[in-house]
Amino acid sequence: MQEIDVVPMKLDQLYALLPAERVAQFEERAAVARSLLHGGVVWNVSATAHGGGVAEMLQTLLSYVRGVGVDTRWLVLTGAPELFTVTKRVHNLLHGEPGDGGPLGPAELATVLAALADDVEDLAARVSPGDVVLLHDPQTAGMVDRLRARGVAVVWRCHVGRDTPNGLTDRAWEFLRPLLQAADGFVFSREAYAPDWCRTDRMRVIAPSIDPLSAKNRPLSAAEVQAALVHTGLVAGPNTLPDLHYVRRDGAAGTVRRHRDLVTDGGPVPAGARLVVQVSRWDRLKDMAGVLRGFVGALGTLPGDVHLVLAGPDPSYVSDDPEGAVVLQECRDLWRGLAPAERLRVHLVRLPMDSVDENAHLVNALQRRATVIVQKSLVEGFGLTVTEAMWKERPVVASAVGGLLDQIEDGRTGWLLPDPTDLAGLGATLGTVLGDPVRAAAVAAAGRASVHENYLGDRHLEAYVDLFGRLLR
Ligand code: UDP
Repeated sequence: MQEIDVVPMKLDQLYALLPAERVAQFEERAAVARSLLHGGVVWNVSATAHGGGVAEMLQTLLSYVRGVGVDTRWLVLTGAPELFTVTKRVHNLLHGEPGDGGPLGPAELATVLAALADDVEDLAARVSPGDVVLLHDPQTAGMVDRLRARGVAVVWRCHVGRDTPNGLTDRAWEFLRPLLQAADGFVFSREAYAPDWCRTDRMRVIAPSIDPLSAKNRPLSAAEVQAALVHTGLVAGPNTLPDLHYVRRDGAAGTVRRHRDLVTDGGPVPAGARLVVQVSRWDRLKDMAGVLRGFVGALGTLPGDVHLVLAGPDPSYVSDDPEGAVVLQECRDLWRGLAPAERLRVHLVRLPMDSVDENAHLVNALQRRATVIVQKSLVEGFGLTVTEAMWKERPVVASAVGGLLDQIEDGRTGWLLPDPTDLAGLGATLGTVLGDPVRAAAVAAAGRASVHENYLGDRHLEAYVDLFGRLLR
């Protein structure tokens, strides 16, 4: 397994954003965590170090944990394509979607265990009794039993789910249950996602959080936004690009020298254009294709200066998502099938993932440049992109599904689309938001306040301390 460097981060800058009593409460919980762990380590295991919400969160949250004097480490699975084929199937089923329709039986169970065998032995050799292991998502489910045998507390943290379980979610849970049922604790993003057999006092509902100081969310000047977008090719710029400077997670400076031709289709947006933006992995459940169709269908009613940008990671960088390249290609095919005048209004962007900080900087700039952020997911465990956009005071239009229902109060902190498959509904809501910039700004400000109250790292970590209190007594 690969160990990802977790750089301890002082919390002063985060504290500066919080009221004094909230800082005092957090410090008190951090002291409780240190005494519960007695110097033990909190290990995190995830499928990938970049791309997607889990990696995004761990990158900064774990730095804070180290910053308050708790030893935490992060390991990423070596994995194998056959592991991720099975676990992506499970992932889709947990969302209630058929995915590739492949089998999920004893042969797949054997595949998963065999693919994880080296990694689990590697981790078993590193842990000591009294440590806690947090296993993230279905890719890691096959590690529970072996680690418990080493005398550590094992918590499985599931980041996905569906509000209304169906026969497909049942299939996924049937597959996962024998792997997971011995776990000491379970964490879900919403209560509705937990199967009945997890609903004990060992289960917690913990909402994901964002870090306002990370490369993804830190404030950017208008000039930094412009430079980043020129760099992606989404905004026209000089033929010879100046270097792109960005600030890394640890506060150091990063620079990109290469000119990247990242807009795959659609070319640069005109200066001054208003942008409707969805940033997502190229996953069918994010429905990038539906956003494209809904937007194009509404072009007759939307103002002429409004353009759509769909941006996601360049699939060649993402190892644990075999569908990414296919879904991007579907969007590119759709784009090619548009009338020439429509094509001019839609832009598809592949973002590089080789430097996490550079990628985050580009997403940050894109979100800040957006007039409206869309997240038209068909299902969504919890949409970090939405929290990120709300923190940046962007008006958000998102599907009324899953965690998005907790994140957005319709009409007050954002707009919810009652039926995520209703393309005309998306077009009409975009028309409403773009047609009333004063109201959009007020809603966006309320959105930022709600993220400040509920979704910053201190809230997230306090909830874990509560769970550890139950497990480590
Ligand atoms: N993201 C990114 N680069 C991309 C696409 C997405 O950094 O090209 C990030 C995005 O900003 C967010 C995370 O990946 O932080 C996606 O998390 P979310 O909860 O929205 O969805 P998930 O991918 O976990 O299903």
